[in-house]
Amino acid sequence: MFSRKKQMEEMAFATAIQSDLAIRAISDGVVVCNTSGHILLINPAALEMSGFTVGDALGLDISSVITLLDVHNQAVIWDFKQIKQSLTRSDLQLKSNTGAKLTPVEIHIIPSNTTKLPDYQIVSSSNHHAAPQDSFIITLRDISLELKSEEARMDFISTASHEMRTPVATIDGYIDLALNANVATTDDRARGFLEKAKAASKHLGELFADLLDVTKIEDDGQAFRYEKVDVNALLAEVADEMNQQIKAKGLALNLASATTKINPLYYAMVDKTILREVLTNLIGNAIKYTEKGGIALKVTADDDYITISVKDTGIGIAPEFLPHIFQKFYRVDNTDTRQIGGTGLGLYIVKNSVENMHGKVWVESQPGQGSEFFISLPRVKNSDGLQI
Ligand code: ADP
Repeated sequence: MFSRKKQMEEMAFATAIQSDLAIRAISDGVVVCNTSGHILLINPAALEMSGFTVGDALGLDISSVITLLDVHNQAVIWDFKQIKQSLTRSDLQLKSNTGAKLTPVEIHIIPSNTTKLPDYQIVSSSNHHAAPQDSFIITLRDISLELKSEEARMDFISTASHEMRTPVATIDGYIDLALNANVATTDDRARGFLEKAKAASKHLGELFADLLDVTKIEDDGQAFRYEKVDVNALLAEVADEMNQQIKAKGLALNLASATTKINPLYYAMVDKTILREVLTNLIGNAIKYTEKGGIALKVTADDDYITISVKDTGIGIAPEFLPHIFQKFYRVDNTDTRQIGGTGLGLYIVKNSVENMHGKVWVESQPGQGSEFFISLPRVKNSDGLQI
């Protein structure tokens, strides 16, 4: 229970900063709450989105003023008790009090013990600075325009991708026909040329696909759609999808989480599609650069980070190449790798994607001894932030 004195101090603080011009002028919604969720400050942009007036909103519980809906149109529950660190979500919509308006928003919640509020001088009974110590700053950014332009961009990318891949597939098909002894007659020399053309058209197809992925990640992840993802479940899904390829090469798959009875729930706030691509890339490389043995996938976590590891028993990477492998278009060029196709973009995409999601990627490898790639991502607890 908050004491009467503390309540008065908080309200005095709210009144003082409510009239602050800077906060009023911010085009994003700004709300400050105490730990019980009572609104101490709300700016005009947040009022506009929620449909409330300042007199009505101040002092109310945030859940009655800021109604957020998840992707399934379910209202999320505000729970400040568990929030220990700042969090961001961009998969929610803010519903106005009449229900007539839905605004897609990116929400940031910052506990005020990590961000000190400005020192407003409050005239209160005890006449001291009364800025509350345990409060939460919530910002709400209207992302409707961004979503629209992102949609247009993605439409363009997928159309362009389709337009480019179709002729490549046609060329590929005709080369196959020319190489087929039942359909066409070729001498050995022509066959050699056609095989080279076939390898180049395959490479071109991969290059288009990778370049489109690069387009997606090179805007600092602004288009990423963050959601809470169960990392173990996602890794198991990707492993399952790729198991056919792993088996086809005669390799073994070891998924550590699948062998433990109790699968721990490790959540990360990430773009699920992007993380899926990252894992597909790393497992794809493990398959490509391994001739015998197998691939081991593992998820571990401490309080703050989840670490995913993709380990193979393949050709490994010499120390002089290691600092370069995450660079754009870099490929190790030696007798082991020359016969293996690739674009040199996969690990660049992995690194950029993971860093955009506030994570890290690194590798441990020895030539001939296999490689182990690691990704670490900030961990969120099941109950962190907004519960659904
Ligand atoms: P590529 O399309 O050439 O595979 P990547 O960006 O995915 O491009 O990888 C860059 C280089 O790093 C590769 O050319 C390869 O030499 C090396 N590499 C990546 N993954 C592995 C692995 N699991 N084992 C051995 N070498 C690897």
